[in-house]
Amino acid sequence: MDEDDCMVDIAKFFLTFSQDESCGKCTPCREGTQRMLEIIERITTGQGVAEDIPRLERLAKLIRKSSLCGLGRAAPNPVLSTLTYFRAEYEAHIHQKRCPSLKCTALVHYEIDPVKCVGCTACARHCPVPCIAGKPKAPHVIDQAHCIRCGRCFSVCRFDAVHRA
Ligand code: SF4
Ligand code: SF4
Ligand code: SF4
Repeated sequence: MDEDDCMVDIAKFFLTFSQDESCGKCTPCREGTQRMLEIIERITTGQGVAEDIPRLERLAKLIRKSSLCGLGRAAPNPVLSTLTYFRAEYEAHIHQKRCPSLKCTALVHYEIDPVKCVGCTACARHCPVPCIAGKPKAPHVIDQAHCIRCGRCFSVCRFDAVHRA
């Protein structure tokens, strides 16, 4: 892992694993990890709210204390440690609706630079929606309301005209 990894996404990855592996015998692990996962999914898709961080911490501590076996007791650890060391990343997702590592696709914003765009039409032809308008040899524009943030335009543009943030 390096600075290009999103710590909220990493926490989601480990929590998904624990949720899948939970045998379901005890309620804190069975239900609690599912609730935590729902909160993290909300955060990574831009639906997070300020109360989600204290909710995650409360649930994590409860699950750790009351689960029957090691799987449940360890399940909240990735969330707790990323909250301890990378809390600012959670806050950016929740308050600014921004993923600093550009990993959470729902929070990545694509825009075409009209100065760099030469109107080659490649982005418009590859956009699956399609939501890019423009005439050949003229700057193209993304209709933000319909963009599904798939990143195809960014990948196909050979003129470095598509910016993502
Ligand atoms: S903590 Fe252990 S016993 Fe309880 S549901 Fe999870 S895996 Fe099953
Ligand atoms: S691929 Fe790049 S240069 Fe070509 S139209 Fe799209 S943004 Fe402009
Ligand atoms: S990110 Fe995908 S949907 Fe959005 S404009 Fe680019 S190609 Fe189209």
